[in-house]
Amino acid sequence: MEGILHRPGLVETLRLEGRGDGMITGTDTMDQVAAAIAGCTLCPLSLSRTRTVPGEGPVPSALLFIGEAPGKKEDETGRPFVGRAGQILTDLLSRCGLSREEVFITSIVKCRPPGNRAPRRDEIAACMPYLEAQIALLSPRVLVPMGRFATVTVFGMYGLPFPSFGEVRGRGHGVRDQRSGREMTIVPVYHPAVITHNPPARRDLEEDFRKLAGVIRTSPGSRK
Ligand code: SF4
Repeated sequence: MEGILHRPGLVETLRLEGRGDGMITGTDTMDQVAAAIAGCTLCPLSLSRTRTVPGEGPVPSALLFIGEAPGKKEDETGRPFVGRAGQILTDLLSRCGLSREEVFITSIVKCRPPGNRAPRRDEIAACMPYLEAQIALLSPRVLVPMGRFATVTVFGMYGLPFPSFGEVRGRGHGVRDQRSGREMTIVPVYHPAVITHNPPARRDLEEDFRKLAGVIRTSPGSRK
């Protein structure tokens, strides 16, 4: 998958082509992006969703957490990470000295795949302009993809090689945003839901967040 999703300027391309009713532009606010997502029918996930889940948090935000896709509770409420995984994430953030309200949380695709299956490649490609627009609006210093799936996708966006999740998780990977020229650090971590079906993984998850806290403290412009 690496490199396939690396399509700089796609937001502008969408605007020029006027493609789809979820059209967004390079000058939208986060509320406008959320409104475009709410009306989006660019991929088949629009047919089965209850609500779209654009994400939430402050704008701009130094920290952007990215999950795979909304689950059942998120689909019902329209909010990201509100189920058991959300409680775990909130707890892990507090161990880093952060509250949920201080970070922006979203996912690769904004609509729930039926039965919580993994999003398909065409669905990811259709939804990618929204994540690109969110990154442009948030100006994050640190991107935190949660789980292997989100990590593969985010590494693909920035053309980073992906040897294996084990080799890249818990470490900072520097990238430069092609549109803004800003430097960012990608820190992959386990998905918080991992411990709901594999309780011993809690130690690895906590270790990832300890390392993340270290990257946050040492990244340029940090106030932590
Ligand atoms: S997943 Fe993304 S591209 Fe697909 S319908 Fe939802 S908002 Fe649109």
